[in-house]
Amino acid sequence: MEFKHLKSILEKHNLWAKKSLGQHFLMDESVCQKIVHNLDLKGQTVVEIGPGPGSLTDILLKAEPAFLLAIEKDQRFINILKEFENPVNTAFTIVQADALNVCISKLLSEHGKAGPYHIVANLPYNVGTELLIRWISDIENITSITVMLQREVVDRMTALPGTKDYGRLAIVLQSCFDIQELFQISPEAFIPPPKVWSSVAFLKPRKDVPEPNVIKTLGKLTNMAFCYRRKMLRASLGKSLPLTLWQKLCDTLNIDETRRPEELDTHTFLAMAQICSKEQI
Ligand code: SAM
Repeated sequence: MEFKHLKSILEKHNLWAKKSLGQHFLMDESVCQKIVHNLDLKGQTVVEIGPGPGSLTDILLKAEPAFLLAIEKDQRFINILKEFENPVNTAFTIVQADALNVCISKLLSEHGKAGPYHIVANLPYNVGTELLIRWISDIENITSITVMLQREVVDRMTALPGTKDYGRLAIVLQSCFDIQELFQISPEAFIPPPKVWSSVAFLKPRKDVPEPNVIKTLGKLTNMAFCYRRKMLRASLGKSLPLTLWQKLCDTLNIDETRRPEELDTHTFLAMAQICSKEQI
């Protein structure tokens, strides 16, 4: 596929972008190449979410993964994608599905491909963070995730304690992944242009990923703590948790309960979650 023809393909098939599906199509080949540039995908299993008309798909196929599974919700793109030519060493499968409702490992094994996989995607922005959180449950099978999202979401994913962007998303994701912002993209790279800049993030599962029950508790604790972001911890967590447990957390982890949630680092939240999960919180 040639990028210069992408616009005419969209026009020919009358494929206007659906706002409800977060559709902003990448028209800039160099951006797609930059997304894939540092990934060694040859011979690997790769999953693309939301291929749309296939600009990123085309570049992914050129990287010659052993298997590329594309999951697209919008039926209109399925036939266009089926016309793509695969490199000889790549098996390419398109599944029409809502990525929010699929377990990627299960889907891969239904296609005879068990084992680790990379996710690469220009994500639909309206469900991007929800997808990232859901993928944590399959983290042991994930080699890497490279995703494009709104720049402000990537800011929240990579935020450090004490900053305005630091919150639940940073704490939960950084407890599970090492996260790096790769580069930013201006709205003109897309049709239609989004209102905001975008950013590409690279996530690599940490070696010490917490147990699933600890991650679940971390989600609950950060919800309690950041529900009242401006309140002191004793007024949020202190009121939501059983008093003896809250005192145990403060004593064991040396937490000053007059501090605000954004002042606690991810290690402290994780340590709290480890203690609380033993108490069935
Ligand atoms: N990859 C294409 C590109 O870069 O030009 C399209 C990216 S567009 C931002 C997001 C794509 O995700 C659209 O093709 C949209 O139809 C698809 N999509 C939206 N919600 C989805 C969902 N829940 N599951 C799977 N695909 C979805």
